[in-house]
Amino acid sequence: MISVQVGDITRLEVDAIVNAANNSLLGGGGVDGAIHRAAGPGLREECENVGGCPTGEARATGGHGLTAKIVIHAVGPVWSGGSRGESGLLESCYRHCLELALEKGVRTIAFPAISTGAYGFPKSEAARIALTTMRAYESSFTEIIACCFSEEDAEIYRRARDEVVGN
Ligand code: ADP
Repeated sequence: MISVQVGDITRLEVDAIVNAANNSLLGGGGVDGAIHRAAGPGLREECENVGGCPTGEARATGGHGLTAKIVIHAVGPVWSGGSRGESGLLESCYRHCLELALEKGVRTIAFPAISTGAYGFPKSEAARIALTTMRAYESSFTEIIACCFSEEDAEIYRRARDEVVGN
């Protein structure tokens, strides 16, 4: 099942949460900062040992102080007009997260809207890519949550879901 929820991803009771990280994996603003604050310093220490992550890929760590046992750090593309492979990179990001989650035995997972904050990816297109990729993996998970930070963002996801999932 895919659900669209509004809230703070750090509070969700799921096996894994996804972080919208940067290439260094050493923390940043937005959801990344919130996850590092909620998880505590152990997360940053573990991330230092991972050694970064290329755009379009993801890396898993423990959840430390979070309820979620696993954090999957995904590096989405910075939007620069749409002709630099941004859509493919965003899709690759979601796919890597879901593959990694399957490898780790994750049954419930929550995603933020990767790349749609500081990285500037247009929200409707990002939601379509997110939901299309989630849809391809839906049957392998108990629940995939699209965690939106505002009701407005959730509305964008619901509209995109009607388009791609046909609910
Ligand atoms: P990026 O750099 O990939 O664009 P951001 O963290 O700037 O990442 O934004 C990604 C999305 O995460 C935005 O839609 C933002 O509103 C949302 N966001 C920020 N904090 C949280 C949070 N605590 N829980 C869920 N979503 C969040």
